[in-house]
Amino acid sequence: MPIHVLSDQIASQIAAGEVVERPSSVVKELLENAIDAGAKDVRIEIRAGGKRFIRITDDGHGIPAAEAALAFERHSTSKLSTVADLDHISTLGFRGEALASIAAVSRVTLVTRAADEDVGTLLRLEGGEVVEERSSGRSPGTTVTVEELFFNVPARRKFLRTDLTERRHVSAWVTRYALAYPDLRLTLIDEGRETFRSPGTGRLEDVLVTVHGPDVGGELLPVYPQAGQARPIEVSGFVSPPSIHRGSRQGIMLFVNGRWVNDRQMTYAVIQAYHTFLPKGRYPVAVVKVRMPPEDVDVNVHPTKVEVRFRDGDTVFRSVQRAVRQTVASEAPVAPGAGRSAGTWSTPAWSSGQRPRPWKEPPASSGDSLVQPALDMGDRPVQMPPLRVMGQIGATYIVAEGPDGLYLIDQHAAHERVLYEEMMAHHDRDEPVASQGLLEPATVELPPESAAMVEENLETLQDLGVEVELFGGNVFLVRSLPAMLAQARPSEILADVAESLDETRSRVDREVEEAIVRGICKRAAVKAGQVLTREEMEALIAGLERCASPRTCPHGRPTMIHLTTGQLAHQFGRH
Ligand code: ADP
Ligand code: MG
Repeated sequence: MPIHVLSDQIASQIAAGEVVERPSSVVKELLENAIDAGAKDVRIEIRAGGKRFIRITDDGHGIPAAEAALAFERHSTSKLSTVADLDHISTLGFRGEALASIAAVSRVTLVTRAADEDVGTLLRLEGGEVVEERSSGRSPGTTVTVEELFFNVPARRKFLRTDLTERRHVSAWVTRYALAYPDLRLTLIDEGRETFRSPGTGRLEDVLVTVHGPDVGGELLPVYPQAGQARPIEVSGFVSPPSIHRGSRQGIMLFVNGRWVNDRQMTYAVIQAYHTFLPKGRYPVAVVKVRMPPEDVDVNVHPTKVEVRFRDGDTVFRSVQRAVRQTVASEAPVAPGAGRSAGTWSTPAWSSGQRPRPWKEPPASSGDSLVQPALDMGDRPVQMPPLRVMGQIGATYIVAEGPDGLYLIDQHAAHERVLYEEMMAHHDRDEPVASQGLLEPATVELPPESAAMVEENLETLQDLGVEVELFGGNVFLVRSLPAMLAQARPSEILADVAESLDETRSRVDREVEEAIVRGICKRAAVKAGQVLTREEMEALIAGLERCASPRTCPHGRPTMIHLTTGQLAHQFGRH
């Protein structure tokens, strides 16, 4: 075929593909336009998952009659005029492509009235061509109706999924914008039935309850706005306490300057903030909002603007990680013992799917003098009450009394936590880890993958007291070990460290160090089944009291179960 210039119609259909992938893309763009127009109340109606019918009605400032047709031209926008404007975009839209793209692949009806004009305009377009324009009455605001999406692009239409799937995508965008703009009242009407309505109270916590229900939404912890030091980055939002978690990352939602974004680094910062607080493979529920000067974030890197590029991504990462970490660390939970009706101590709510009570800061008087944070990882110290050791059960759990009831402490998990924090504190102060040479170097063979992880981190291992060198193949020579591991077998230690590195699979220095230390502490910690003297138990509890995060082991499991005096009274029928 000879080279020729594509017709306007084909060109605009191709361009539309960038912006309009499916019904939810239309909903997203029209919602953004409504928000940019200052709307407070927006109604979204869909039929057949939006494939047949989408209507968005807003009470924003409307479009002046003289500009209505212009709004559908490609690259027509009222939000941007110079190249310099691109550096500080404060509106959701700016590319002037959405209406043109949507109109190119559907039948559109626009009814709009500018706030300062007496009469509105009705405009009908088919495949991007205006087929009708006339005056029309309505209150100030805009209604855009989009019918028969992709009626003229059969290839695209074929790729649309079932009504149910498309409806789910629409509803995801409605939810995102409800969370991004709590003062907005968003109503979603699906096949004539109202399926979602955000309260529009301006309080994010209210939207969270609507979205996640009171059991999850009502239990989330506020991340108080924190201004970054170097550049003004403000992080706010709500995140789950360690007792609430999910099997996927879908519960983590991120917003930058009022825009929902899909950002791996920021997602990772949130997950990282829960490090050691959640069991492996579990993820928090979070809405994290970042505000920053528009010139520090480039929103023009993706056709649908769901990805952004930060001028200083590291600072954003750190700000998010720190803010979330502080929130979570201050609320690490105690897994309660018997639930109100469960009645046995052996089923902690933690494992039975019930949510434990969130840990509340004790009054300042209870044990202030005893509590010294062992290290400063950006965590606020969680002030554990002083405990009186009473005995040991099954050579596995320590029984202790506290100001409010009974505590059962898992000796292995607790000891892991104590050793972990002591060792990290040591390391953070750049003090050499006390290490002990083996009389004879031990040879240890590891599976190939673990061997690769260990080989990559020989220097860090040495820093942490594990002197090891590659002997050949997957065989290592262990020459010395941390003094606290004097009793353990080198092969077991190296295997634990390798397993821990394997779990982390991180190349971030800090995380590699933490993984190694976790591996070491797992082996060094007192085992279940070991009888402890009273002095040993007291030393362990004292160590735990000094920890910044005494309530979970470094792998995120609880170190203790708390049965309050209230729960005891209840169990015994004393009301
Ligand atoms: P962009 O949002 O990138 O400017 P659009 O194609 O989405 O491009 O919209 C083009 C223009 O039409 C907008 O700049 C705005 O002036 C106007 N417009 C679109 N939707 C609305 C609305 N709901 N209320 C008021 N004005 C609107
Ligand atoms: Mg727009």
